Amino acid sequence: MSLSTLVGQPLAKRLLFTAIQRGAVSHGYLFVGPRGAGKTYAARNLAKALNCETPTAEGDACDRCPSCRAIEGGVDAAFRIISGDGPRIKIEQTRALVADMALRPDGDRRKVYVIREADRLTPNAANNLLKVLEEPPPYGLLILTTDNPATLPATVLSRCQVVPFKPASLPAVTEALVGLTGAPAEQAAQAAAMSGGVLGQALDLLRSGRLAERLGLARRAVAVLGRANVLDRIDLLEEMAQYGEDRERLAEVLGDLAVLYRDSLVLALHPEHHGLSGRADRDLLAEAAAGYGVPRLFRAVDRLSRALDGLRRNGQPRLAMEYFVLNV
Ligand SMILES: [Zn+2]
Repeated sequence: MSLSTLVGQPLAKRLLFTAIQRGAVSHGYLFVGPRGAGKTYAARNLAKALNCETPTAEGDACDRCPSCRAIEGGVDAAFRIISGDGPRIKIEQTRALVADMALRPDGDRRKVYVIREADRLTPNAANNLLKVLEEPPPYGLLILTTDNPATLPATVLSRCQVVPFKPASLPAVTEALVGLTGAPAEQAAQAAAMSGGVLGQALDLLRSGRLAERLGLARRAVAVLGRANVLDRIDLLEEMAQYGEDRERLAEVLGDLAVLYRDSLVLALHPEHHGLSGRADRDLLAEAAAGYGVPRLFRAVDRLSRALDGLRRNGQPRLAMEYFVLNV
Protein backbone atom coordinates (compact mmCIF):
# COMPACT_ATOMS: atom_id res chain seq x y z
CA MET A 1 0.00 0.00 0.00
CA SER A 2 1.15 3.51 -0.73
CA LEU A 3 -0.15 7.01 -1.42
CA SER A 4 -0.53 6.24 -5.14
CA THR A 5 -3.06 3.53 -4.34
CA LEU A 6 -5.32 5.84 -2.31
CA VAL A 7 -8.70 5.39 -4.05
CA GLY A 8 -10.82 8.24 -5.38
CA GLN A 9 -8.98 11.19 -3.78
CA PRO A 10 -7.21 12.93 -6.69
CA LEU A 11 -7.02 16.31 -4.94
CA ALA A 12 -5.60 14.97 -1.67
CA LYS A 13 -3.07 12.90 -3.62
CA ARG A 14 -2.00 15.86 -5.73
CA LEU A 15 -1.56 18.14 -2.71
CA LEU A 16 0.50 15.57 -0.81
CA PHE A 17 2.66 14.49 -3.74
CA THR A 18 3.36 18.11 -4.70
CA ALA A 19 4.45 18.80 -1.11
CA ILE A 20 6.70 15.71 -1.04
CA GLN A 21 8.28 16.48 -4.41
CA ARG A 22 8.98 20.11 -3.48
CA GLY A 23 10.30 19.15 -0.07
CA ALA A 24 7.55 21.37 1.32
CA VAL A 25 5.60 18.98 3.53
CA SER A 26 3.86 21.04 6.20
CA HIS A 27 4.25 20.43 9.95
CA GLY A 28 0.52 20.58 10.55
CA TYR A 29 -2.25 19.14 8.41
CA LEU A 30 -5.97 18.90 8.77
CA PHE A 31 -7.40 16.01 6.75
CA VAL A 32 -11.09 16.79 6.36
CA GLY A 33 -13.68 14.38 5.01
CA PRO A 34 -16.17 11.64 5.82
CA ARG A 35 -15.24 8.68 8.00
CA GLY A 36 -13.84 5.94 5.76
CA ALA A 37 -12.65 8.23 2.95
CA GLY A 38 -8.99 7.27 3.43
CA LYS A 39 -7.65 9.95 5.80
CA THR A 40 -5.76 7.60 8.13
CA TYR A 41 -4.64 5.54 5.15
CA ALA A 42 -3.19 8.67 3.54
CA ALA A 43 -1.50 9.73 6.80
CA ARG A 44 0.15 6.33 7.28
CA ASN A 45 1.37 6.25 3.69
CA LEU A 46 2.64 9.83 3.90
CA ALA A 47 4.69 8.73 6.93
CA LYS A 48 5.96 5.77 4.91
CA ALA A 49 6.88 7.97 1.93
CA LEU A 50 8.76 10.46 4.14
CA ASN A 51 10.76 7.70 5.84
CA CYS A 52 11.20 5.29 2.94
CA GLU A 53 14.73 4.05 2.27
CA THR A 54 14.14 3.58 -1.46
CA PRO A 55 11.30 5.90 -2.49
CA THR A 56 9.89 5.82 -6.03
CA ALA A 57 10.74 8.53 -8.57
CA GLU A 58 7.45 10.19 -7.66
CA GLY A 59 8.48 10.31 -4.00
CA ASP A 60 6.07 7.58 -2.92
CA ALA A 61 6.85 4.76 -0.46
CA CYS A 62 8.43 1.62 -1.93
CA ASP A 63 6.28 -0.48 0.46
CA ARG A 64 9.07 -3.05 0.76
CA CYS A 65 11.98 -1.57 2.76
CA PRO A 66 12.28 -2.25 6.52
CA SER A 67 10.97 1.27 7.33
CA CYS A 68 7.87 0.91 5.14
CA ARG A 69 7.14 -2.51 6.60
CA ALA A 70 7.61 -1.37 10.19
CA ILE A 71 5.26 1.59 9.75
CA GLU A 72 2.69 -0.55 7.93
CA GLY A 73 2.91 -3.09 10.75
CA GLY A 74 2.31 -0.40 13.39
CA VAL A 75 5.64 -1.03 15.14
CA ASP A 76 7.59 2.10 14.25
CA ALA A 77 7.97 5.23 16.38
CA ALA A 78 7.82 7.24 13.14
CA PHE A 79 4.06 6.84 13.02
CA ARG A 80 1.63 7.09 15.92
CA ILE A 81 -2.16 7.23 15.97
CA ILE A 82 -4.01 8.90 18.82
CA SER A 83 -7.76 8.34 19.16
CA GLY A 84 -10.29 9.22 21.82
CA ASP A 85 -9.94 7.69 25.25
CA GLY A 86 -13.70 7.39 25.68
CA PRO A 87 -15.74 10.04 23.89
CA ARG A 88 -13.09 12.77 24.23
CA ILE A 89 -9.39 13.13 23.51
CA LYS A 90 -7.93 14.28 26.77
CA ILE A 91 -5.07 16.61 27.67
CA GLU A 92 -3.04 13.70 29.09
CA GLN A 93 -3.02 12.23 25.59
CA THR A 94 -1.85 15.41 23.86
CA ARG A 95 0.74 15.98 26.62
CA ALA A 96 2.13 12.50 25.93
CA LEU A 97 2.19 13.31 22.20
CA VAL A 98 4.09 16.59 22.75
CA ALA A 99 6.59 14.83 25.04
CA ASP A 100 7.12 12.03 22.52
CA MET A 101 7.56 14.47 19.65
CA ALA A 102 10.34 16.19 21.63
CA LEU A 103 12.45 13.01 21.39
CA ARG A 104 14.67 13.37 18.34
CA PRO A 105 14.54 10.39 15.93
CA ASP A 106 17.61 8.74 14.40
CA GLY A 107 19.20 10.36 11.39
CA ASP A 108 16.83 12.18 9.06
CA ARG A 109 13.73 10.24 9.98
CA ARG A 110 10.40 12.07 10.42
CA LYS A 111 7.90 11.49 13.20
CA VAL A 112 4.28 11.61 12.13
CA TYR A 113 1.41 11.79 14.63
CA VAL A 114 -2.24 11.41 13.68
CA ILE A 115 -5.05 12.55 15.92
CA ARG A 116 -8.17 10.83 14.64
CA GLU A 117 -11.55 12.54 15.03
CA ALA A 118 -9.80 15.67 16.26
CA ASP A 119 -13.20 17.29 16.88
CA ARG A 120 -13.21 15.17 20.06
CA LEU A 121 -10.27 17.10 21.52
CA THR A 122 -11.18 18.82 24.76
CA PRO A 123 -10.43 22.59 24.61
CA ASN A 124 -7.44 22.09 26.91
CA ALA A 125 -6.12 19.19 24.88
CA ALA A 126 -6.43 21.27 21.68
CA ASN A 127 -4.64 24.25 23.28
CA ASN A 128 -1.86 21.97 24.34
CA LEU A 129 -1.14 21.20 20.69
CA LEU A 130 -0.56 24.84 19.74
CA LYS A 131 3.05 24.63 20.84
CA VAL A 132 3.93 21.85 18.38
CA LEU A 133 1.91 23.54 15.64
CA GLU A 134 3.65 26.90 16.18
CA GLU A 135 7.20 25.71 16.79
CA PRO A 136 7.38 22.13 15.56
CA PRO A 137 10.72 20.32 15.66
CA PRO A 138 12.01 20.01 12.05
CA TYR A 139 11.26 16.27 11.98
CA GLY A 140 7.77 16.52 13.53
CA LEU A 141 4.49 16.35 11.67
CA LEU A 142 1.02 16.47 13.18
CA ILE A 143 -2.03 15.39 11.19
CA LEU A 144 -5.51 16.00 12.56
CA THR A 145 -8.39 14.16 10.90
CA THR A 146 -12.05 15.08 11.20
CA ASP A 147 -15.37 15.06 9.41
CA ASN A 148 -16.46 18.12 11.35
CA PRO A 149 -13.79 20.86 11.27
CA ALA A 150 -16.18 23.61 12.41
CA THR A 151 -15.94 22.39 16.00
CA LEU A 152 -12.14 22.80 16.17
CA PRO A 153 -10.73 25.95 17.77
CA ALA A 154 -9.76 28.64 15.24
CA THR A 155 -6.27 28.78 16.79
CA VAL A 156 -5.71 25.15 15.73
CA LEU A 157 -7.43 25.47 12.32
CA SER A 158 -5.35 28.50 11.33
CA ARG A 159 -2.11 26.60 11.93
CA CYS A 160 -2.97 23.58 9.80
CA GLN A 161 -2.95 23.12 6.06
CA VAL A 162 -6.26 21.63 4.92
CA VAL A 163 -6.35 18.53 2.71
CA PRO A 164 -9.92 17.72 1.60
CA PHE A 165 -11.15 14.13 1.24
CA LYS A 166 -14.41 13.70 -0.66
CA PRO A 167 -16.76 10.88 -1.53
CA ALA A 168 -15.38 9.20 -4.66
CA SER A 169 -17.22 8.28 -7.86
CA LEU A 170 -19.34 5.13 -7.50
CA PRO A 171 -17.58 3.27 -10.36
CA ALA A 172 -14.17 3.96 -8.74
CA VAL A 173 -15.37 2.64 -5.37
CA THR A 174 -17.06 -0.37 -6.99
CA GLU A 175 -13.90 -1.30 -8.87
CA ALA A 176 -11.78 -0.95 -5.72
CA LEU A 177 -14.24 -3.10 -3.74
CA VAL A 178 -14.15 -5.89 -6.31
CA GLY A 179 -10.34 -5.77 -6.26
CA LEU A 180 -10.09 -5.73 -2.46
CA THR A 181 -12.78 -8.24 -1.52
CA GLY A 182 -13.56 -10.28 -4.64
CA ALA A 183 -17.26 -9.49 -4.10
CA PRO A 184 -19.55 -9.85 -7.12
CA ALA A 185 -19.76 -6.58 -9.11
CA GLU A 186 -23.47 -6.08 -8.43
CA GLN A 187 -23.05 -6.38 -4.67
CA ALA A 188 -20.01 -4.13 -4.76
CA ALA A 189 -21.98 -1.52 -6.71
CA GLN A 190 -24.76 -1.61 -4.12
CA ALA A 191 -22.29 -1.22 -1.23
CA ALA A 192 -20.59 1.66 -3.07
CA ALA A 193 -23.94 3.38 -3.52
CA MET A 194 -25.08 2.78 0.08
CA SER A 195 -21.82 4.28 1.31
CA GLY A 196 -22.32 7.38 -0.81
CA GLY A 197 -18.93 6.77 -2.44
CA VAL A 198 -16.89 6.36 0.75
CA LEU A 199 -14.63 3.35 0.32
CA GLY A 200 -14.03 2.55 4.01
CA GLN A 201 -17.75 2.58 4.76
CA ALA A 202 -18.49 0.44 1.70
CA LEU A 203 -15.85 -2.08 2.76
CA ASP A 204 -17.33 -2.14 6.22
CA LEU A 205 -20.79 -2.83 4.78
CA LEU A 206 -19.53 -5.73 2.69
CA ARG A 207 -17.38 -7.30 5.40
CA SER A 208 -19.87 -6.96 8.23
CA GLY A 209 -22.75 -8.35 6.19
CA ARG A 210 -24.74 -5.22 7.04
CA LEU A 211 -25.46 -4.33 3.44
CA ALA A 212 -28.51 -6.58 3.20
CA GLU A 213 -29.73 -5.45 6.64
CA ARG A 214 -29.55 -1.77 5.72
CA LEU A 215 -31.19 -2.25 2.33
CA GLY A 216 -33.95 -4.35 3.91
CA LEU A 217 -34.71 -1.83 6.64
CA ALA A 218 -34.81 1.07 4.19
CA ARG A 219 -37.20 -0.84 1.95
CA ARG A 220 -39.52 -1.79 4.81
CA ALA A 221 -39.51 1.76 6.11
CA VAL A 222 -40.46 3.17 2.72
CA ALA A 223 -43.30 0.64 2.42
CA VAL A 224 -44.65 1.08 5.97
CA LEU A 225 -44.44 4.86 6.00
CA GLY A 226 -46.30 4.93 2.70
CA ARG A 227 -49.36 3.68 4.59
CA ALA A 228 -51.27 5.50 7.29
CA ASN A 229 -51.40 2.56 9.71
CA VAL A 230 -50.09 3.75 13.08
CA LEU A 231 -49.59 0.21 14.45
CA ASP A 232 -47.28 -0.61 11.53
CA ARG A 233 -45.35 2.54 12.29
CA ILE A 234 -44.94 1.55 15.91
CA ASP A 235 -43.64 -1.87 14.82
CA LEU A 236 -41.16 -0.09 12.60
CA LEU A 237 -40.10 2.14 15.48
CA GLU A 238 -39.44 -0.95 17.58
CA GLU A 239 -37.31 -2.39 14.83
CA MET A 240 -35.39 0.86 14.55
CA ALA A 241 -35.10 1.14 18.34
CA GLN A 242 -32.14 -1.23 18.24
CA TYR A 243 -30.21 1.72 16.81
CA GLY A 244 -31.75 4.18 19.27
CA GLU A 245 -28.67 4.83 21.34
CA ASP A 246 -26.14 4.47 18.57
CA ARG A 247 -25.94 7.88 16.96
CA GLU A 248 -23.81 6.78 14.01
CA ARG A 249 -25.98 3.80 13.08
CA LEU A 250 -29.14 5.83 13.41
CA ALA A 251 -27.68 8.58 11.24
CA GLU A 252 -26.99 5.86 8.66
CA VAL A 253 -30.60 4.62 8.77
CA LEU A 254 -32.00 8.13 8.45
CA GLY A 255 -29.43 8.95 5.78
CA ASP A 256 -30.44 5.87 3.76
CA LEU A 257 -34.07 6.97 3.95
CA ALA A 258 -33.20 10.54 3.00
CA VAL A 259 -31.47 9.32 -0.15
CA LEU A 260 -34.33 6.95 -1.04
CA TYR A 261 -36.92 9.69 -0.67
CA ARG A 262 -34.82 12.19 -2.55
CA ASP A 263 -34.39 9.70 -5.40
CA SER A 264 -38.14 8.97 -5.40
CA LEU A 265 -38.84 12.68 -5.56
CA VAL A 266 -36.42 13.16 -8.44
CA LEU A 267 -38.05 10.24 -10.24
CA ALA A 268 -41.56 11.61 -9.62
CA LEU A 269 -40.63 15.06 -10.94
CA HIS A 270 -38.29 14.02 -13.77
CA PRO A 271 -38.87 10.40 -14.83
CA GLU A 272 -36.00 10.71 -17.34
CA HIS A 273 -33.47 11.94 -14.78
CA HIS A 274 -30.14 10.14 -14.63
CA GLY A 275 -28.83 11.62 -11.39
CA LEU A 276 -30.21 8.94 -9.05
CA SER A 277 -27.94 7.69 -6.27
CA GLY A 278 -28.14 4.04 -7.31
CA ARG A 279 -29.00 2.94 -3.76
CA ALA A 280 -32.33 1.40 -4.72
CA ASP A 281 -33.73 -0.13 -7.86
CA ARG A 282 -36.12 1.94 -9.93
CA ASP A 283 -39.10 -0.29 -9.06
CA LEU A 284 -38.88 0.58 -5.37
CA LEU A 285 -38.40 4.26 -6.17
CA ALA A 286 -41.30 4.27 -8.63
CA GLU A 287 -43.52 2.55 -6.05
CA ALA A 288 -42.64 5.18 -3.45
CA ALA A 289 -43.08 7.99 -5.95
CA ALA A 290 -46.59 6.76 -6.82
CA GLY A 291 -47.61 5.80 -3.27
CA TYR A 292 -46.50 8.95 -1.48
CA GLY A 293 -47.12 11.65 -4.06
CA VAL A 294 -44.90 14.68 -4.50
CA PRO A 295 -46.05 16.81 -1.51
CA ARG A 296 -45.44 13.98 0.98
CA LEU A 297 -42.08 13.17 -0.54
CA PHE A 298 -41.05 16.82 -0.13
CA ARG A 299 -42.19 16.64 3.48
CA ALA A 300 -40.28 13.40 4.07
CA VAL A 301 -37.05 14.84 2.66
CA ASP A 302 -37.51 17.99 4.75
CA ARG A 303 -38.28 16.10 8.00
CA LEU A 304 -35.34 13.76 7.48
CA SER A 305 -32.92 16.59 6.93
CA ARG A 306 -34.20 18.19 10.16
CA ALA A 307 -33.86 14.93 12.06
CA LEU A 308 -30.30 14.51 10.76
CA ASP A 309 -29.49 18.12 11.68
CA GLY A 310 -30.79 17.45 15.18
CA LEU A 311 -28.59 14.37 15.43
CA ARG A 312 -25.53 16.35 14.34
CA ARG A 313 -26.25 18.94 17.01
CA ASN A 314 -26.27 16.17 19.59
CA GLY A 315 -30.04 15.89 19.83
CA GLN A 316 -31.62 12.80 21.35
CA PRO A 317 -31.27 10.02 18.75
CA ARG A 318 -34.50 8.28 19.70
CA LEU A 319 -36.53 11.49 19.63
CA ALA A 320 -35.21 12.33 16.18
CA MET A 321 -36.28 8.94 14.91
CA GLU A 322 -39.73 9.00 16.54
CA TYR A 323 -40.38 12.50 15.29
CA PHE A 324 -39.77 11.35 11.76
CA VAL A 325 -41.55 8.00 11.78
CA LEU A 326 -44.73 9.32 13.40
CA ASN A 327 -44.96 12.57 11.46
CA VAL A 328 -43.99 11.89 7.91
ZN1 LIG B 1 10.16 1.95 1.63
